[in-house]
Amino acid sequence: MIDFTLSDEQEELRRTVERFARDTVAPVIGDLYERGEFPYEIVAAMGRMGLFGLPFPEEHGGMGGDYFALCLALEELARVDSSVAITLEAGVSLGAMPIYRFGSPEQRKRWLPLLTSGEKLAAFGLTEPGGGSDVPGGMRTTARLDGDTWVINGSKSFITNSGTDITAFVTVTAFTGDGEISTIIVPNGTPGFTVGRKYSKVGWSASDTRELSFDDVRVPAENLVGERGRGYAQFLRILDEGRIAIAALSVGLAQGCVDESLRYVREREAFGKEIGRYQAIQFKIADMEMRAHTARLAYYAAAAKLLAGEPFKKEAAIAKLVASNAAMDNARDATQIFGGYGFMNEYAVGRFYRDAKILEVGEGTSEVQRMLIARALGLPPS
Ligand SMILES: Cc1cc2nc3c(=O)[nH]c(=O)nc-3n(C[C@H](O)[C@H](O)[C@H](O)COP(=O)(O)OP(=O)(O)OC[C@H]3O[C@@H](n4cnc5c(N)ncnc54)[C@H](O)[C@@H]3O)c2cc1C
Repeated sequence: MIDFTLSDEQEELRRTVERFARDTVAPVIGDLYERGEFPYEIVAAMGRMGLFGLPFPEEHGGMGGDYFALCLALEELARVDSSVAITLEAGVSLGAMPIYRFGSPEQRKRWLPLLTSGEKLAAFGLTEPGGGSDVPGGMRTTARLDGDTWVINGSKSFITNSGTDITAFVTVTAFTGDGEISTIIVPNGTPGFTVGRKYSKVGWSASDTRELSFDDVRVPAENLVGERGRGYAQFLRILDEGRIAIAALSVGLAQGCVDESLRYVREREAFGKEIGRYQAIQFKIADMEMRAHTARLAYYAAAAKLLAGEPFKKEAAIAKLVASNAAMDNARDATQIFGGYGFMNEYAVGRFYRDAKILEVGEGTSEVQRMLIARALGLPPS
């Protein structure tokens, strides 16, 4: 039961993505990041490698793997760059997964091969200007049936992958009745659906994040995903899984900080010797490795429960909390180890520093994770 050794197949996947991140992503991502450009060629290459299809069955164009395989790939990508990793995470976990888990046979047939090949991306539109943590309370978007057409009005904030040249659609949550939430596919280009400008962000600068608005947007009734009124349950499931993926991404960033620091402390000298000879620096790196290691165990444990079909909400929340803390702490320490160079964009650790903060916010803030853990322990809602 207690065995966190990767199988030969998993180790092969991990190594393949590690090589890809080192040889294909690392040489170009710094420039794309500074210019705020979406990494189209990298995304196309990830598509050819099958990364967008990792957790999906072959009948849908997938690789026949599982959610843990996706997590392994995310960890290796984020060791080098988080914009690329979040593009994959959102494409799979927020874009394709709702269609795979809840979509009709027709929706799966139409969309999944495009999404699992990475040819197209889909986005998940849940958060609104009025609030992301309290979704029913802050949500204003509505959809009403007019004959066999949904008419959608409202807006969404911070939606990843929603405005790229290869975005096919956004799955939107909306009130479809009194307190009733449903999810509906809205293809990009539908009249009345406006994809806003890219946000200027603190980090994840080579990823695509946009505000969306819906002004009497009309889509066919069959664009409803799953049952009417099941939208709340659907996005809770999607977010629970997504937290394990974000934990894996966070572990990758935390480990990337260790990788970069180990290299640097062997080169940089101060007071006549390599800075890696000072115990203060060694202890910092030891702490960084400890955080990455324990956070990895936390997400492996959560993924093990998910794959075993057991309840995993609490474990996913713990993994995300531990791993995002590890990412933040390691990014701060790695930047410190690099001294002034850590503040320069040409060094990866500066990018890690800017990318770490969002990990404590996206797919549920750290406070929300604590709320979920407290609920799982039987404590009452405050
Ligand atoms: C780069 C980026 C990409 C994103 N991608 C997507 C996406 O693809 N799809 C999508 O739907 N959303 C996306 N989001 C939105 C993200 O999930 C939300 O920002 C997040 O859930 C927090 O919601 P909020 O920003 O509205 O903060 P709020 O919910 O307004 O929270 C503000 C603060 O109050 C705290 N808080 C709230 N309620 C409580 C409480 N009861 N007790 C204690 N503290 C509380 C929060 O923890 C937070 O610190 C993205 C965000 C960013 C920045």
